[in-house]
Amino acid sequence: MSSKNAQKIERLKHNHIGPPLFFLMFSLIAAVITSLLIVGFTMSIQVQERIEAVCASAVSVCRSFNLEDSSEDEVLALMKNSEQAENIFIFDEEGKLITSRGEPTYDDLKVDFLSSDKYSGESFTLYADKEMTDNIITKDGKLDLFSTLSGENFARIKSKLNKDGDVLFNAGFWLEYELENGRRVMTKCSAPIHYMDFRKSYFMGIIAASCMLIPVGFFFINLILSISNQRRMTRLLYTDPVTGGNSWMFFEQNAGKDLTARRNASKLLLIADVTISKYRSYCSFHGADAGDSLLEYTDSVINSQLLSKEYCAHSGKSSFAVFCKCATKEEGEKRIEKMLDELSSKFSREGIAFQAGIYFAEPGLSKDGKRTLNDRLTIPADCFNRASAARATIADENRTAVAVYDDCILKEQLWKHKVEERMEEALRNEEFKVYIQPKYDPKSDELAGGEALVRWINEEDGFIPPGRFIPIFEENGFITKLDDYMISHVAKLQAEWIKTGKKVVPISVNVSRAHFANPELAEHICALVDNYGVPHHYIEIELTESAFFDDKEALLRTVHSLSEKGFEISMDDFGAGYSSLNSLKDLPLDVLKLDAEFFRGENSENRGEIVVSEAITLAKKLNMRIVAEGVEKKEQVEFLAGQGCDMIQGYYYAKPMPAAEYMERLK
Ligand code: C2E
Ligand code: CA
Ligand code: CA
Repeated sequence: MSSKNAQKIERLKHNHIGPPLFFLMFSLIAAVITSLLIVGFTMSIQVQERIEAVCASAVSVCRSFNLEDSSEDEVLALMKNSEQAENIFIFDEEGKLITSRGEPTYDDLKVDFLSSDKYSGESFTLYADKEMTDNIITKDGKLDLFSTLSGENFARIKSKLNKDGDVLFNAGFWLEYELENGRRVMTKCSAPIHYMDFRKSYFMGIIAASCMLIPVGFFFINLILSISNQRRMTRLLYTDPVTGGNSWMFFEQNAGKDLTARRNASKLLLIADVTISKYRSYCSFHGADAGDSLLEYTDSVINSQLLSKEYCAHSGKSSFAVFCKCATKEEGEKRIEKMLDELSSKFSREGIAFQAGIYFAEPGLSKDGKRTLNDRLTIPADCFNRASAARATIADENRTAVAVYDDCILKEQLWKHKVEERMEEALRNEEFKVYIQPKYDPKSDELAGGEALVRWINEEDGFIPPGRFIPIFEENGFITKLDDYMISHVAKLQAEWIKTGKKVVPISVNVSRAHFANPELAEHICALVDNYGVPHHYIEIELTESAFFDDKEALLRTVHSLSEKGFEISMDDFGAGYSSLNSLKDLPLDVLKLDAEFFRGENSENRGEIVVSEAITLAKKLNMRIVAEGVEKKEQVEFLAGQGCDMIQGYYYAKPMPAAEYMERLK
């Protein structure tokens, strides 16, 4: 998984509760503030209404001092129980105090929150009271509900709540009223504020807070649901749909963390690729459901052998990624072997095998304290690929076996990758060079033919022998292009040499078995050669023995067709592992090339000679010429000459050489 995708998934998995929590807090605070504001606002309206009522009654008291019928004392006596009568000061037109009762606790500061013109044109002025406690009208004449409702006052007020008759606090002030007779009356007023007065405010505040909290509640529920959804989604991502066990994503995430943290670990980390070999044929035979059950079974067996903090995951069609910790490599290998044994014990008769590749991720630092290459490998997919590369080295697919990764495997893998990346360009740049190994007649020691063998030569890697790239090309199919290239180049060289009057001899080219998928192969080869106008008998087609085991019909058709067109056809590597005597019976082959293996080894010469001699007799009887390959010794040449071998291709005479050098040997 690319780091970009890993980040995306990481983001998906995480619960992003930061912003919603912030929103939640914000909403709660907003609800509290709003309800406080509503309570405060409605309270202040009510306090004002109350003060207005008190002012109205005080004004009517003051008016009674216009004194048309009775004296001031009489009026005061009449108002004995009135609050105003206890604190009243009357001044004459010149401002001289003429009547006084109570303490003059009025201040010079005017109370300005109430405008007098609201009161049916009555003109009065309000002054703050200096001494009244519980006063919500401050000494500087402001109506201060906030400071009254907070701090110590709040605690006191709270204790009085719910007692309807209790006074919560007072609004105290002095009212100054100008009489028609020019006198001025100053009277103290007090508006006691009861709990009852504020019930409506509290009620409205609670309603406002609730209104705001309902969406917050919904939001909260939504948040919880989304967190649980997130968890479900993570579970979904981490569960393999076939096995019901862990998915590859689970493995990548967890192994990534474990691999990164391994510098502090004391144990080796083991990553294995456990694969069911021939799974596809098992499914074809038993059905897809049986295939799924097999995967489930594999998952459960692997899991049953894992310890805590170890895990496995279904990583692909028929393979599982396993993560274990072990003290030594031997221990790790044994554990995986045990796993495979248990897996295969149940399926020994089903024609499937279990194979595993192991990669060990070593902890700690190298001796010089630096991080090692191994230590730096923290990407699970890379480790798993190495385990898979190790597994791929198990050649026999029928065998239950374990292979451990080493760096040569990686080198081979990298080389293969490089070859595949460069091959097309190399063909275009003509980096593939035609080398020719001469074939000699052992009786006359004269040049009798040649075999074209490819070499890859480039600046970066220098001289690359065919064994390093031909098997890769055979696997990926590029070999057909390379063979075409070789046929064309050989035809071109032969044409040039014929033109310059050289006495050319046939040159054989290797035609890989991959070509036989082409039903028009004979026509195709013919066209390549005809491009240069070379007589067909100067080109010989070498088919390896293995080609004779593919589609027999196609091979027969092609060989007959090539033969009709005048090409010589040889069977390469005769005797190298495949018995193709049967093919000799059916095919019109011209040349039999005895494999070099016949001429290797010291002790088996006597038996070898018998086989070689019989093979030569057989070829002669079938009217075929015989070429012995890989001959290095004089005695071998003499023996082969004695047996009537037609040509010898080996280091005894010459190694493969560049075309120009080969040309020198032409007469
Ligand atoms: P091959 O076709 O059997 O070629 C003969 C190989 O034996 C050559 O190896 C040659 O160098 C080697 N040889 C010849 N005489 C002696 C000897 O006396 N002693 C020893 N030790 N070796 C000897 P080379 O050139 O490395 O080629 C290896 C294989 O690569 C060839 O085996 C052939 O299968 C394949 N190959 C080479 N060129 C081509 C090509 O153009 N197309 C295809 N399809 N395969 C090619
Ligand atoms: Ca050959
Ligand atoms: Ca050969």
